[in-house]
Order: sequence, then structure tokens, then C-alpha cells
Amino acid sequence: MPGFFHEAIDRKQFLSRATSLGAAMLFNSTARADSDTPAANQERFRVALLSDTHIPVTAGDGHRGFLPQENLAKVVPQVVESQPKLAIVNGDAARLDGQVGDYEKLRELLTPLAQVAPIHIGLGNHDDRGNFFNVFPADAESKTSQPVTGKHVSLVDTPVVRIVVLDSLLYVNKVAGLLGKNQRDWLAEFLPTATDKPIACFVHHTLDDGDGSLLDVDRLFSIVRPHKQVKAIFYGHSHRYEVSERDGVKLINLPAVGYNFTDDQPVGWVDAEFHQSGVAMTLKTVGGNQNNNGKTTDVIWG
Ligand SMILES: [Zn+2]
Repeated sequence: MPGFFHEAIDRKQFLSRATSLGAAMLFNSTARADSDTPAANQERFRVALLSDTHIPVTAGDGHRGFLPQENLAKVVPQVVESQPKLAIVNGDAARLDGQVGDYEKLRELLTPLAQVAPIHIGLGNHDDRGNFFNVFPADAESKTSQPVTGKHVSLVDTPVVRIVVLDSLLYVNKVAGLLGKNQRDWLAEFLPTATDKPIACFVHHTLDDGDGSLLDVDRLFSIVRPHKQVKAIFYGHSHRYEVSERDGVKLINLPAVGYNFTDDQPVGWVDAEFHQSGVAMTLKTVGGNQNNNGKTTDVIWG
């Protein structure tokens, strides 16, 4: 396996950090270091995008004939093989109500990936913030955690895009989500200070006007609209894969790893290559509608 020796060293270094655990973020400093390289502008930055893993403590606990533990166990080796520099799990990490056992199982399943890339885990309506932090303690060293009271907000700088992971968990195991005033105020203060690079936001909840969607979505767009460097918002929640647009911002709905809600939708993850002017997203399916497995969708933000 090419690069094995080098990778083994990285893995060892990472493990020594991960054992002190470190991380809502299982994070190393790769992304930050890369952003300082002179050739950064020509780079493509590979990020593995996962959402709605819905990991239960029990292997046989599933939905619609899907077994989320089994799905993630298939996905993780694929992600490791793709050699991402970063991985994001965009909420609903846990099966239903965010039990400690769910997160312990999630951590076990993600460990082979955490050994080769930093993983950032956002929160959704089936997560429990307190239980989550019991298993993935905040990492003071990572410098990604943002000071938003009561929310888990992270900022990850890469050579070609700045990634902001927002927290829309409002009530555990109830459908609707909310950023809330503290987080909106933080975003409104942050965006004018970060204009030199495209920004991609991640939030768990859907961005329409449904009663189970992001309830302050219009207030989010009034904050984002004046800041043209915000190019994309990635979301999950609906267990669908599709790309749309609002106010010039690309909206990217990530497929679920755990299960779909309808047979027409894929179950899997997205291998995303970010570059200066967009992102090339390759769908990787492990179940559901697999017709578009391997299909690359180019989203250009100019
Ligand atoms: Zn979900």
C-alpha cells in the first residue's frame, strides 16, 4: 500500500492525541498546517461528508430494513481508502435520543477513520449535547471550537474553503431545529471578519419552511445574504441527496448513512473535493437507490 510507512507515523501521532480524547472533533492540525503552504491556492482539499449516521448501541437496531451500524462499518473503510484530509458527520450521529452507548459505539466504528483524518461531528435532533461531550470531550488544543454559549460550533480552516459547522439541536428527539440568538449573533459578528476565502456552512436541519425544519432559517439567510463569501450551506435531516440554491447560496442536502426515508434515495456518503471555485462531489452508496453510485456532481460558485 503506497505511503503506508508515512501514514503509519501519522496514525501513531494521531492516536497519541486521540487517547486523551480530544474532541468533539477528533482533530489534528493537518488542515491548519496545509493552509500555510505556498501552493495552497492550486490545491483541491478532500473532505468526506457523512450525515445522519443514526448509530444505535445495539447492532440489530435499525429502520426500514437498514442497519445503521452495518452501514457505517461499510462506509468507514471506503472513506479511509479515499484518503480525506477531513471528515464531517453532519448531525443525527445517534440513533434516536443520543445515549452515551450510541456515542461509544459511534466512536468505536469511526476509530479507523480517526486514525488517518480529523473527524468533526455536528449535532442534530437525535443527538444529546451533554452525552455527546461525555464521549467526545471538547479539545482545547484544536482551536476550532467557537465561544457560543449552549451550542457546539466549530470553525475549520482549509487551503480553499473555510468550514463553519453550526449547531441546530433544539430539543432531543423532537424534529424541529433552531440556531438560536447566541449562535446567530456569533455568525453575524464572524462573517465580516472572514472575507478572504469561500465559506461553506454545515447545519443539520433542512432549510425550508417546514415545522420540522430549521425554524430560524430566514434569519440565517438575512445574516448570510450580505456576505458573498458564503458559497454553500450543507445540511441533512431529510435523508435525501440533492442540490438547490437560495439567494445565490448553493444548498447541498447530504444523503444519510443510516437509512433513507423513501426508496428513491441513496444511502451512503459523499467524497467531496473542494477547490477555489466550488466542490466536486462523488456519491458513494452502500444501500437504497444505488443508481448514481460513483456519479460526480460539480457545484461551481465562481
Ligand atoms: Zn436523521
